[in-house]
Amino acid sequence: MKHFVWTIGCQMNQADSRRLASALESAGSTPAEHIDDADLIILNTCVVRQSAEDKVYGRLSSLKPLKDRHPELIVGLMGCLVGVGDATPLRERFPWVDVLMPPSDPTPLLQHLSARGLVDERDLEPGRRVASGTGCAQGDRPSFSHSGACPVSDYVPIVLGCSHACSYCIIPYRRGAERSRPVDDIVRETRALVNQGVQEITLLGQIVDRYGYDLKEQPEYVAGNTPLVSLLRRVHEIDGLTRIRFLTSHPAWMNDELIDAVAELPKVCEHIEVPVQAGNDDVLARMRRGYTVEDYRRLVARLRARIPGVSIATDIIVGFPGETEAQFQDTYDLLAELQLDKAHIARYSPRPQTLASRRFPDDVPRKEKERRRKALDELQSGILGEINGCLLGQSVEILVEGKKKERWWGRTRTDKLVFFEDDRKWIGKLARVNITWAGPWSLIGAVEPAGEADFQRHHRPTSEIQT
Ligand code: SAH
Repeated sequence: MKHFVWTIGCQMNQADSRRLASALESAGSTPAEHIDDADLIILNTCVVRQSAEDKVYGRLSSLKPLKDRHPELIVGLMGCLVGVGDATPLRERFPWVDVLMPPSDPTPLLQHLSARGLVDERDLEPGRRVASGTGCAQGDRPSFSHSGACPVSDYVPIVLGCSHACSYCIIPYRRGAERSRPVDDIVRETRALVNQGVQEITLLGQIVDRYGYDLKEQPEYVAGNTPLVSLLRRVHEIDGLTRIRFLTSHPAWMNDELIDAVAELPKVCEHIEVPVQAGNDDVLARMRRGYTVEDYRRLVARLRARIPGVSIATDIIVGFPGETEAQFQDTYDLLAELQLDKAHIARYSPRPQTLASRRFPDDVPRKEKERRRKALDELQSGILGEINGCLLGQSVEILVEGKKKERWWGRTRTDKLVFFEDDRKWIGKLARVNITWAGPWSLIGAVEPAGEADFQRHHRPTSEIQT
């Protein structure tokens, strides 16, 4: 059997897809090079905005003729289009889709394949599962393995679902209530990934800084005031792990203990993703974000004061219902003032079930939303040009993740994308690079002579990597 997994959406979806592929491979399937060669096609879906949902429908309608021609082809839908609720309407709309899977849960597919005799029943026994569906839904997922090329950087979900209910956001309705995974599971899984060659892990959660608060009543609850800090300390102890990141943070939960842990723990990168969403208090209140612009401003100041060289990324929604020109200008001014390292800017899209879609008419015209998006994009790209320009002539440390055309690429601890050319093999290694060109979205550099030392120090023959 050959499988093809198509993924759109957030890092959590990418993590879910990697786990699904791992489960399939352990059950004897191999990845197909091209979608046309696959016996099994999985679409891992996103519905955070209408545009993402439309992409899924487009992909589904292009698959229908293939399925008509090859009825034995198995088509599965996974992720937020399916959601954790009743999937009957979706089943009725797409009766030719064979399997529907909620986010982070490959069990229905594995059961379907087993029922058709395509995978060994024993692969579904708890002891032999590498990716677990039902367990996963309860926040418990055994470690999984990568076959073939192991990524240098990988994701580890630590909080599934979300219970915050920002008024615009569909995620709580599709991914279910917030559930933190037990510390020991996360540590075990991370260790297994590192033993396979992963150097950097990013701990994932919709509100990652809320990690562990729901475990309080359970024996797994880690002693300490901020559970994410206890977790970071445990993960930090793992030998062979080079870098740790976590995202996405919510401003209300980023306390000083957490900020100080980022500053103190050498493997934890000085890179914080903390969305502001809007620069006006009325808009923030209608979004139900739970903080003010001044709170966010103070947070940025605290991060900068306590974490030297910190890089801060944010998300912004433009054209939220009722957002006036003056309120948009507040957001523009805030972004200009804060000089952040990245801003993901999205046009508001009304989503079913959300409070905003039920209460507030979507009254900012499409063209105006686009104008606002473009204005922020241009502002931010100017800011990034300046911030990145300061790196010219500087020496930065890159963890090399891959090669594109003739250039190696990797990221700095602050999440800046850097390319360089060199004849040696750099994948999975740290390189010291001197920046020779800087643009808003990426940088180019040259390996420094000192890079040699790093090359020696970090070079590990494959035989040393335990599996
Ligand atoms: N909990 C995650 C949310 C992931 S969704 C977080 O805090 O980042 C990623 C981003 O998509 C959000 O931060 C928000 O900026 C944007 N988004 C979410 N719902 C949206 C909607 N209805 N319309 C437009 N953008 C939206």
